[in-house]
Amino acid sequence: MFKNNKKPGRILPTLKFMFGIMLREKPWFIVIYAVMGLATAVTSVAGIVFPKLIIDELVAMAGGDLQAHIINAIVWAAAFMGVLVLAGVINAVGNAVQDVLREWFAEYIDIKLAERAMEMDFQHTEDPDALDKLNKAQEGMSWYSGGIMGITDSAYRLAVNAVTAVTGAGIIIFTCPWLLPVQIISLLLIAWLQSKINTIEQKSFVKLSKFNRIFGYVFWQLSDFRYGKDIRLYDSADMMNRKAKYYSDKMCDVWKTESHDERKMGWGMDIINSLRDGISYFYIGYLAITGAVTIGDFSMCIGAAGMLYFSLNGIIDSIQGIVNKCNYAHRYIEFMDYPAAMQKGTRRVTGGDHTIEFRNVSFKYPRSDKWVLRNINITIDQGEHLSVVGLNGAGKTTFIKLLCRLYDVTEGEILIDGVNIKEYSDEEYRKLFAVVFQDFSLFAFSLRENISFSDDSKNDPAINEVIEKCGLADDVSKLPDGLGTMMFKSFDENGTELSGGQKQKTAIARALYKDAPVVILDEPTAALDPVAEYDIYRQFDTLVGGKTAVYISHRLSSCKFCDRIAVFADCTIKEYGTHDELAGKPGGIYAEMFAAQAQYYNV
Ligand code: ADP
Repeated sequence: MFKNNKKPGRILPTLKFMFGIMLREKPWFIVIYAVMGLATAVTSVAGIVFPKLIIDELVAMAGGDLQAHIINAIVWAAAFMGVLVLAGVINAVGNAVQDVLREWFAEYIDIKLAERAMEMDFQHTEDPDALDKLNKAQEGMSWYSGGIMGITDSAYRLAVNAVTAVTGAGIIIFTCPWLLPVQIISLLLIAWLQSKINTIEQKSFVKLSKFNRIFGYVFWQLSDFRYGKDIRLYDSADMMNRKAKYYSDKMCDVWKTESHDERKMGWGMDIINSLRDGISYFYIGYLAITGAVTIGDFSMCIGAAGMLYFSLNGIIDSIQGIVNKCNYAHRYIEFMDYPAAMQKGTRRVTGGDHTIEFRNVSFKYPRSDKWVLRNINITIDQGEHLSVVGLNGAGKTTFIKLLCRLYDVTEGEILIDGVNIKEYSDEEYRKLFAVVFQDFSLFAFSLRENISFSDDSKNDPAINEVIEKCGLADDVSKLPDGLGTMMFKSFDENGTELSGGQKQKTAIARALYKDAPVVILDEPTAALDPVAEYDIYRQFDTLVGGKTAVYISHRLSSCKFCDRIAVFADCTIKEYGTHDELAGKPGGIYAEMFAAQAQYYNV
């Protein structure tokens, strides 16, 4: 599982991707990087060359030649200060710009990721592999790599360190050449230990990502007020706390192992560093005592050795940083390129009447061997109202998901106006349907936005028409800000919490407002009281008008209002006909279900 973690093939494409975004969105920032890099490199070199010049002048002054050298010493000192001040100003301005851009790019990446997640094939949203990849993309592109700026910063540091390393090496070669192999050998050893630390961290990342996702899920359920009722009434907080603790312990175990393994590498690094410093001081001290170098050279050599060491270290660190960060960030690119599960068509949907046909359709969910639907054959004509009934798990919702092309059929085909639905463009195809699923979502926006999903529906009379039709007008008039009232209290203390029935009416209003030719309602009245339910059914014809309507219902009395009924059982359509035909069929499934319900309802 871990073998493929570090793929060299990921580095260049990731760098190209990151710099591509930077050059496309903020090209001027490359100039800022260049100026900052130059200032940093000049400061490092100045930090070892100017002290040498000043010390040599001071030694000469101490030797008695005060007059000639004092001016030189002052000039060098002033020049040194000038370089430091200028570089300080350049870096301060550059860092401030960098901080702002870091936030900008982080948001840019989040928005692109969210857009991609939204446009992915629906089936991926129920696929643990895709969810895991999404999580890794989010984490890999933020905490672990530092995002776009995390990677471009490492590339910038690599360039700066390369310049200072070459300068430091040049100074050492001309003044104290044996320091070069000492620095290089110690550095290679440290780099080797560092690469071991990086491998340990990569392995932990893969393990942590999964635990983190599950822990995060449980944690958010516990801290989300909306789940408060279920958690309290079912006393499930203990069970959920235990789960959260279990995964938190798992994460701690991973961290403990990681820090234990890393500590051993840290000790090795400390020993190598001490040895290198001891040998360097001994060697340069010997050169100074024997008169092979001046006191100024001694100071410069110590400085150049330090600069070379830190620059080479910086180079290796930056390269490892780039490799590491690209490996994490590449998960973002992988997610952005997640392969489509469904064939995309381009055909446009024509206006006018539409006929829907399921022809020998069979279906299994991805990663499952179980047939959920077998040989479904049904035609739904324009304007027809079809009721879909059956026991739980009979495949009714799956039938709707296939019709909406949230999944593709495993066998057979679904045709609209005689054309396989795979040939239509997704965007065009989805315009055909207004669907209310059982698990519809309302968002923490205004009621109006929840119905219209539009910013400029304020003066649209259609919105008042649909709330009137759905029996929601009275409820809306009692809300503090009418249709402008915010849902939930997440962002507005005057936000409202609608009742289950009001929420369901809102979802129906949303479907009607879309004004699509086919209306699909999955148990549209489950949360309504009997009077509201009766009203919805009584007005069903007015509500959906001449549109085609498919709805799933457990309340069989509602089927009377429909043209046809399809009874799902044993993975297929077992009975099909009008209410009168099916209710009168001796021993029929529908007849039995209807008779059973008739005992409780006066139908
Ligand atoms: P109904 O709407 O009639 O209650 P569903 O269509 O929801 O039935 O489910 C039919 C069968 O498909 C059930 O056995 C259910 O467990 C299974 N199923 C539903 N959704 C998925 C899914 N995303 N992955 C795998 N199996 C699923």
